[in-house]
Amino acid sequence: MAFIPYSRQQIEQADIDAVVEVLQSDFLTQGPAIERFEKDFAERHQVAHAVALSNATAALHIACLALGVGQGSRVWTSPNSFVASANCALYCGAEIDFVDIDPDSRNMSVERLREKLEGAKAEGTLPDVVIPVDFSGMPCDLEDIRALADEYGFRILQDASHATGAEYQGKPVGGQYADASVFSFHAVKIVTSAEGGMVTTQDAELAKKIALLRSHGVTRDADLLEHAPEGGWYYEQVDLGYNYRITDVQAALGASQLERIDTMQAERAARADRYDEILADLPLKLPKRFNDRSSAWHLYVVELTDEAKCDRATLFAAMREAGIGVNVHYIPIHTQPHYERLGFARGDFPAAEAYYDRAITIPLFPAMTDEEQDRVAQVIREHVA
Ligand SMILES: *Cc1c(COP(=O)(O)O)cnc(C)c1O
Repeated sequence: MAFIPYSRQQIEQADIDAVVEVLQSDFLTQGPAIERFEKDFAERHQVAHAVALSNATAALHIACLALGVGQGSRVWTSPNSFVASANCALYCGAEIDFVDIDPDSRNMSVERLREKLEGAKAEGTLPDVVIPVDFSGMPCDLEDIRALADEYGFRILQDASHATGAEYQGKPVGGQYADASVFSFHAVKIVTSAEGGMVTTQDAELAKKIALLRSHGVTRDADLLEHAPEGGWYYEQVDLGYNYRITDVQAALGASQLERIDTMQAERAARADRYDEILADLPLKLPKRFNDRSSAWHLYVVELTDEAKCDRATLFAAMREAGIGVNVHYIPIHTQPHYERLGFARGDFPAAEAYYDRAITIPLFPAMTDEEQDRVAQVIREHVA
């Protein structure tokens, strides 16, 4: 039987045509396909500014810099995320800490955040930036986090890498409550540009700063120049930036994929609904739904309950053996050796650890068939029930 991956990109002829068109054009990079991708993305996410970058890790890095993160800054994120959500703070020389998750949403817990802020206020160690993560595509509690940001004076950098097209309070994520939001277009994500990332923001100054840092801190923009131009060739480096540019080839693929996001999203949601039905009678905790938000369904994660007849490691091995590409999202970041060396240890964030011990990500992608889903459910059933 064919292997069922946990995620599979969907490339159609329109995507191929869009990429070939760029390959035959004058610009492979720094051309019009990037601007088009940014404009389309901003429109789709109802936000004023979108800046495309080489990947979401780069986007998190320079979004942190643009928000003023540096030596001596404090950044907090969720331990239940990919390491990039925390690494971005370390790149800037900042101190990183974590806020434990809510076991139902698997996102940063607003209660834990509030408690931690109260403690930090008393000690004079309030964070400068908080990076909540829309885990699995489910938007985090942004309205509540915004209220705390206003009370305690931190900026919000939303890691929406999983959440392209997800909705919160009836609007797409990326334009509400956060100071900036970051999206990933890695091949396993909701829409792909092979590698790629985007920062969205309502703040024109912030967008300008990110665009500058994306390309060496070098500019020809008359507003940013510090000296009088010396001629038509003139440019200045006004900040220390990087080469974090996306290419036109990638941007064309991303823009083409974005045109189909509604269909792909609906297909993911239908698969998730169907999993809810066919797994309902098993000793599993299924993803929770919320009335005021809808997931982009990047991941469908189940947790084995006490009644399950095997543990997660056994189920994982059995499913891989059966040709089913299960995965685990995520090993809590604070338990990674690099973070242990910074002083973190298992036991620091018990809800994220308890979740991790029982979690398994099962295949979900738009083109998945009923037969594939039934096979996944069947193998789970054979082991846990
Ligand atoms: C994938 C991912 C990233 C990094 O994305 P890249 O585009 O691969 O750099 C960051 N944060 C989260 C939560 C992710 O899942």
